[in-house]
Amino acid sequence: MGDPEVRSDDEWKQALSPEQYGVLRCSATEAPFTGRYVDCHDDGTYRCAACGAALFSSGTKFDSGSGWPSFTEPAVASAVELREDRSHAMVRTEVVCRSCGSHLGHVFDDGPGPTGQRYCINSLALDLDPTLP
Ligand code: FE
Repeated sequence: MGDPEVRSDDEWKQALSPEQYGVLRCSATEAPFTGRYVDCHDDGTYRCAACGAALFSSGTKFDSGSGWPSFTEPAVASAVELREDRSHAMVRTEVVCRSCGSHLGHVFDDGPGPTGQRYCINSLALDLDPTLP
């Protein structure tokens, strides 16, 4: 298995569950209120489920009512890349893992607090690491 940054499509299929592959590599969206982290309040750092990069801190997670894990900001700004997404007859901002290019979710301008942002992220794209603050 090669480095996450340079994995082939076949390698990703082997490395991920079919559900994770659909979200991370094909930009699918999990059904709302089905993900394992929607109502999770545990402390830790949410890592990319594809490559392990630290993406979001539990301290920035909030209950948005959307049915997906929601954060006000990334753990560090450089952890994610934002891309314009014009699919499904909408203009949205896609959130991508900068380390491995996997799809994570979208960011919207209706969040709480100083940033006003809501990072709406699929549970399938995340892996909570309780050892990292
Ligand atoms: Fe990644």
